[in-house]
Amino acid sequence: MTNPLYDALLGGKRGSASPFLRLMDGTDISYGAFAETAGRLAAVLGERGVRPGDRVAVQAPKTPAVLALYLACVQTGAVFLPLNTAYTPAEIEYFLKDAAPSLFVFDGRGGEALQALCGALGIAPLTLDAEGGGSLADAARQSDPLMEVTARAPGDIASILYTSGTTGRSKGAMLSQDNLLSNALTLAESWRFTDRDILVHALPIYHTHGLFVASNVLMAVGGRMVFHPSFDADAVIDALPGATALMGVPTFYTRLLASERLTRAATRSMRLFISGSAPLLAETHRAFEARTGHRILERYGMTETSMTTSNPYDGTRKAGTVGFALPGIRVRVADAAGRPLPEGEIGVLEVKGPNVFTGYWNKPDKTAEAFRPDGYFITGDLSRVDKDGYVAIVGRESDMIISGGLNVYPKEIEAEIDAVPGVTESAVIGVPHPDFGEAVVAVIAAEHELDIEPIEAALAEKLARFKHPKAYKVIDSLPRNSMGKVQKARLREAYKSLFAPW
Ligand code: AMP
Repeated sequence: MTNPLYDALLGGKRGSASPFLRLMDGTDISYGAFAETAGRLAAVLGERGVRPGDRVAVQAPKTPAVLALYLACVQTGAVFLPLNTAYTPAEIEYFLKDAAPSLFVFDGRGGEALQALCGALGIAPLTLDAEGGGSLADAARQSDPLMEVTARAPGDIASILYTSGTTGRSKGAMLSQDNLLSNALTLAESWRFTDRDILVHALPIYHTHGLFVASNVLMAVGGRMVFHPSFDADAVIDALPGATALMGVPTFYTRLLASERLTRAATRSMRLFISGSAPLLAETHRAFEARTGHRILERYGMTETSMTTSNPYDGTRKAGTVGFALPGIRVRVADAAGRPLPEGEIGVLEVKGPNVFTGYWNKPDKTAEAFRPDGYFITGDLSRVDKDGYVAIVGRESDMIISGGLNVYPKEIEAEIDAVPGVTESAVIGVPHPDFGEAVVAVIAAEHELDIEPIEAALAEKLARFKHPKAYKVIDSLPRNSMGKVQKARLREAYKSLFAPW
C-alpha cells in the first residue's frame, strides 16, 4: 500500500530544484526545499505522538510553513484541520471540543487565550507566526526530515474542513485521500494546468478554494505559485505580468476592476482567470472581458464536494452560469423528494462522484440527512439547467423566501435591483411577517443617497407583484465573509422584527 495523495503532490519532487513558491520578498522555495520542510514537520508530528487518523488543528497566518504542515499531515496520515483565521477563541473552543485534535497550532503572538484553552482541553499547543517563527518552526528546524511516508487507503480521511456554517453550527466535512486526489487531477486536466503554470495565489489556505483547488492542482502538476499572504489588488496586479493564472472569489475581480492599473497589458501573460466560492455577477464578467480581453472561467463547488461543475476551458464560458459537471461527476436538479426535474425548472442540485466527502465528523445523523439512498449528496443550492446544459446557481435553498405560500427566489429580484443606476449591489431576504409568513425585503448597498422609486418602477415592470419587496433598506455595504459570500443570515437577524406586530 502506498500514499497516492502524497505521491501525487510531493513524492516525486523530493530533492527537486524546480521552483514551487515565490514569496513577496522575492524568495523562491523549490519543491525539494518545501518537501524537506514538510518532512521536518512530519518528524515533529511523530515526536509529539501524532498517529495516523489523529487531527492536527491549525489557526495560523498564511505562510509556506502552514502549507508544508498540510503536506506533513498527508505524509504521516494525520488529518489536517485548518481553521479560519478570523475565528475568535470562543469559536475555536467549539472546534477543538468537537474535533478533539492531538495538536493545535496557532499564532503565538496574541494567542494567550488559545494557550489557556489548550491547557483546559488537554491539547498540545504549538505555534507558527506570520514570519514562519514559533515553537513548531523551532522544533522542525531541530529535527531531521522524516523520509518515511505512511501508507494510506483511498478512503482514509486526509482532512477535515469545517463548513462556513451560514445556518446553525458549522460541521466538519471529512475529506478522503481520494476525494482530494481525484478532484486535483480532474481540475488540472480540465483547466489544462502544467508545470509551466505560475498561479497568483492570494486566497486563504484554511478553505477548500485556496488549499485544495489552488494548491493541490498546482502541486499535482509541479507548477509554481506566487504566494501572497492575503489579497491586495495592487500586489496582485504587480504579480500578473509573467504569471499565467489567477484563482479568485468574485470580490477579487470587482476589486481588480476598481483599479485603473488592471489593463490588457498587465494581463498579457495570463492564460486563465477562474472565479468561484460565491456568484460572479454577469456584469463583472462582462466588465472584466471588456477591460482585459479575458473571459473569466466560473466554477462551482463547496467544502463537502470540492469542485463539482465548471465552465469549459475550450468553448463558451457563459456568464451567470457555473458550466457543466466535471468529468466523472454526476449532478441532477431534483425536487424535495430527490426526483430529477425537467430542464429549466428550479430545484436543489444533487451531486455524486469521487469528489463527494465521506460524511460529517461525529454527526452521523447530519450525514444521513445529507445523502439520498442512491448516494447523491444534497447540496442545498437551488439551481437550474439551461437548454445548452449549463448549470446556473440560483441561491441557497435556505435563502429562498416563501411569501403568502409562493416561492420567491432572491437572485431574480437582486438582478433587477442591481441593474438600476446608483445601486452597488443588493441582497433580498425573507423576514417574518404576520400575514404573509415571510415578507420580501431588499437590502441595498449604495455609495450615495438612493431614490427607491426607480427601483420600484423597474420591478413593477419586470416581476410579479408577490415578488416585490415590502421594505427597502439602504446601507453602505453588504456584510460578507472572508470568501466573499454575502451573509444573509446576519441581514435576516438585523431585520427580523421589521414587521413584528408586537
Ligand atoms: P463553501 O463550502 O464555503 O465553499 O461554500 C459553498 C457554497 O458557495 C456553495 O454551496 C454555493 O452556495 C456557493 N458557491 C460556490 N461557488 C459558487 C458559484 N460559482 N456561484 C454561486 N455560488 C457558489
